[in-house]
Amino acid sequence: MNDLLNNRIKIGVHTGSSPGPSDPFSGDFANWRNWLSWPEIRIYQSVSANVRPIDQIIATTFHELAHASHWKNGTRTCFDLSNKCVIEGWARCVQWGLTNVEYASLGQTYNWNTGAQGQSKTNSTSSWNDGYIPFYIDLIDNVNQRAVNSGNTDFAIDAVTGFNIRNVEDAVIGSRTLYQSWEALKAQNIANEGQLWDLFDFYNTL
Ligand SMILES: [Zn+2]
Repeated sequence: MNDLLNNRIKIGVHTGSSPGPSDPFSGDFANWRNWLSWPEIRIYQSVSANVRPIDQIIATTFHELAHASHWKNGTRTCFDLSNKCVIEGWARCVQWGLTNVEYASLGQTYNWNTGAQGQSKTNSTSSWNDGYIPFYIDLIDNVNQRAVNSGNTDFAIDAVTGFNIRNVEDAVIGSRTLYQSWEALKAQNIANEGQLWDLFDFYNTL
């Protein structure tokens, strides 16, 4: 995400909720707004009139910065035509990873109860179907959610670990599909190929 240091990006923080109470969201990114001198990133302090805790606002900011960096690093067609799993899965990974780094540096534990790491096919159906999956988090973390959840097949078989966020970014940039990113991850020779396939195969139904 080094490019963000060399580019100015505007973040607009709104004190209220996002417009459209039927479809509340906590933040978004759209490069076109910059053409009108508006902030590319909008962050909302509230969702459905409920003020959000600061950790969620920080996490949302990292999430939207991940989209901005992804957009700027890839080609326009790469980002715009990418599968939602790649776009939102990667933003979830950055959100999870950088918020944890930030909280660790403050001597705190980031305890985001609604975070993506514990999500399954059934406990987050709507966001899951929109591509907000923990595939890229699973490459880094040490949690095998299938085992943690007593073999529940709604959770991924995650024996994979050992990647860092830079490894994952290298695989995501230039990949339009989850499969292309899997091939790039495999080529890094960090993980056991069979374990990497099992993880990918679980998410590849989307
Ligand atoms: Zn997003």
